[in-house]
Amino acid sequence: ARAESGLKWVNSFAGLGPDFYTELQPTPLPSPYWVGRSRALARELGLEDHWLETGEALAALAGNQLLPGVRSLASVYSGHQFGVWAGQLGDGRAILLGELDTAAGPQEIQLKGAGRTPYSRMGDGRAVLRSSIREFLCSEAMHGLGIPTTRALCVTGSDAPVRREEIETAAVVTRTAPSFIRFGHFEHFCYSNQHAQLKRLADYVIDRFYPACREAKQPYAALLEAVSERTAHLMAAWQAVGFCHGVMNTDNMSILGLTIDYGPFQFLDAFDPGHICNHSDTQGRYAYNKQPNIAYWNLFCLGQALLPLIEDQELALAALEPYKTIFPAALEAKMHAKLGLPDAQAEDRALIDNTFRLLAGNQVDYTIFWRRLCGFMPQAGHEPVRDLFFDRESFNAWALQYSERLAQVDQGLRANLMLKNNPKFVLRNHLGEETIRAAKLKDFSGVDTLLKVLQTPFDEHPGHDSLAGFPPDWAASIEISCSS
Ligand code: AMP
Ligand code: MG
Ligand code: MG
Repeated sequence: ARAESGLKWVNSFAGLGPDFYTELQPTPLPSPYWVGRSRALARELGLEDHWLETGEALAALAGNQLLPGVRSLASVYSGHQFGVWAGQLGDGRAILLGELDTAAGPQEIQLKGAGRTPYSRMGDGRAVLRSSIREFLCSEAMHGLGIPTTRALCVTGSDAPVRREEIETAAVVTRTAPSFIRFGHFEHFCYSNQHAQLKRLADYVIDRFYPACREAKQPYAALLEAVSERTAHLMAAWQAVGFCHGVMNTDNMSILGLTIDYGPFQFLDAFDPGHICNHSDTQGRYAYNKQPNIAYWNLFCLGQALLPLIEDQELALAALEPYKTIFPAALEAKMHAKLGLPDAQAEDRALIDNTFRLLAGNQVDYTIFWRRLCGFMPQAGHEPVRDLFFDRESFNAWALQYSERLAQVDQGLRANLMLKNNPKFVLRNHLGEETIRAAKLKDFSGVDTLLKVLQTPFDEHPGHDSLAGFPPDWAASIEISCSS
């Protein structure tokens, strides 16, 4: 079906059959208005230039009007939350409209906050404005950083009240991804003893996203290994940029190795390895430095869920093994790039370890350190970098070690490499907070401005230096929980 918008919908997930979802329609969002739109993503999706300006788009993406060809549904999944089996969960407030065929392959379009579903449990099916703005901006920011992620096309808002700790207002985020399938989807069909459906799901994922696994002797073990590999690369990217996800439950782990479900996430301000960004995470299970091991734990859960298909426990364990080498190697490669080292040498591991130790010891602002380091001159005084440290002696020792290593590197090459690997702009909590504060008063200009710089975070963006500065003191007291 071809709508006025020119959109042609495919519904391959719906083809899995009714055990996988409930067909239903979004609940209309009263009197919606635009909060933010990603024209860059609209172009990538092949949407017509002005479609996002139309009333048709606003109605469709607020969930108020179904476009022809849409077969909307909420999918069922389960998961481990904070290390404990939580049983059935599912899309409690996200509704899949279907897929658009784009130049980059099929992309699912999902409305998050579009009303109650059979999987809403005690929830209202809604999302509030603040968390929707955070998800929208961070999705596009991560993409700008080159980190695998679900994307966000827009946020629509409404004055309709939503009850959280206080009364807030409702919003809907339009998210896109090749697939929103999570580890928890596999856990669901394993532990509910629906093993034929488990196989159908695995075959669907292999055929669409991991076709090379089909050639393996044991395609499902190969799938587990391929997902482990993508997850290892994702963790390396998170750690290198200083991103804390905050809620790494197995239902928030993408089978495609994408960053998914932006909640209480945070980009580190001061470098604190044990930093906990989720105010509800009292044990620190999802602290910054725990993320790589938690990802492995989650992959182990995926392996257990795939066991009815893999059949051989040894084979499943072997498929997880490469994670242990791929993650550190991938992180090391990222750190080489951040340090401006085009090739790896034996002594670099010590330099990298020393860098992290120095940053932690001085609680140095992580993003600012790396960006300033791009201008580090081996022979000069490096004041802009040194000024970030109170322990000057340790800094001087480190700077000497780094300078010696840089003696073997072409300086033009180094600066170029570093400027492409050390972003000037990340979505710090206080930037989100300021933007949200204005948005609550219907000033959405901050959303646009932040979106613009975050989409190309390695560019200088003259005139926007205030978005690349130190966090204000009040940033340390921002508390972001699972409430969204
Ligand atoms: P999350 O912590 O956002 O990943 O959500 C965990 C589970 O709770 C998922 O199944 C969500 O769909 C569901 N959920 C979260 N918030 C709501 C809400 N306001 N209404 C309905 N379901 C929700
Ligand atoms: Mg979730
Ligand atoms: Mg802290």
